Amino acid sequence: MDFRDDAELDSSQVEDTRGRGVPKGGLAIGGGAVGILALVVGLFFGIDITGGNDQPAQQTGSGTDLAAKCRTGADADQSEDCRIVGTVNSIQSYWKQTLNGYTPAKTQLFSQATQTACGYATSDVGPFYCPGDRKVYLDLNFFNQLQQQFGAEGGPFAQAYVVGHEYGHHVQNLLGTLGKSRSSARGAESGAVRVELQADCYAGAWAKNAVSTGFLEQLTDTDVRQALSAAEAVGDDSIQRRTQGYVQPDGFTHGTSEQRRKWFTTGYQSGDPRQCDTFSGSI
Ligand SMILES: [Zn+2]
Repeated sequence: MDFRDDAELDSSQVEDTRGRGVPKGGLAIGGGAVGILALVVGLFFGIDITGGNDQPAQQTGSGTDLAAKCRTGADADQSEDCRIVGTVNSIQSYWKQTLNGYTPAKTQLFSQATQTACGYATSDVGPFYCPGDRKVYLDLNFFNQLQQQFGAEGGPFAQAYVVGHEYGHHVQNLLGTLGKSRSSARGAESGAVRVELQADCYAGAWAKNAVSTGFLEQLTDTDVRQALSAAEAVGDDSIQRRTQGYVQPDGFTHGTSEQRRKWFTTGYQSGDPRQCDTFSGSI
């Protein structure tokens, strides 16, 4: 994964709250909204968290001054957090070109735990998208876990795939399809699985068009392999085998390793999000 050295980064799309303490739990007071069930649908790892707090704690300022640090594509090639900035910039540039009415969503980098409109979340849940505040939440330590515990190859483009997947959920939120995961949240043919596989396909569609956003040089075979390896590592069957020793399709929430590879590839080969229809027909 190689950024164009002279690409101008927009660091305002990423906020950095790493290293800041967050009060645990959430007291949702005011607005009469106590007890609203906020379901985080974007969880990469198939763990749904519910929370009653629709008033996220204010987190302003920044752990690292990304505006000073991440100015160009050369910076994105130098450091992990600037690479996330460049990746987010490219993904959103793509969707802006592709989807009428696309509105940008921020990514928040956090460490250990954070307060969101979907409730209090710890890093354990993995990267996720919260529809309530339209933000992608990312603890960069997750990527070490992906390699060490889940056997993914790792690498910069594994991260890019994950970020692309989460922005896929944002696109679904804008299109109104994200909610399909609520009506049927579990099972091999469930709405949840279809939503997740479509997000993988959207990540692939972006990857195919990443060069045309002006941020990235041509992808290499290594890049694509890293994305596929990550997709495979987080398949429901692989995770279940690893954590419980057997596969139980009734419990699927994100699709099998094979399905995740397949739908990323569908997006990547076509470069066309219209090919990402995971809702009609077989998946
Ligand atoms: Zn997801």
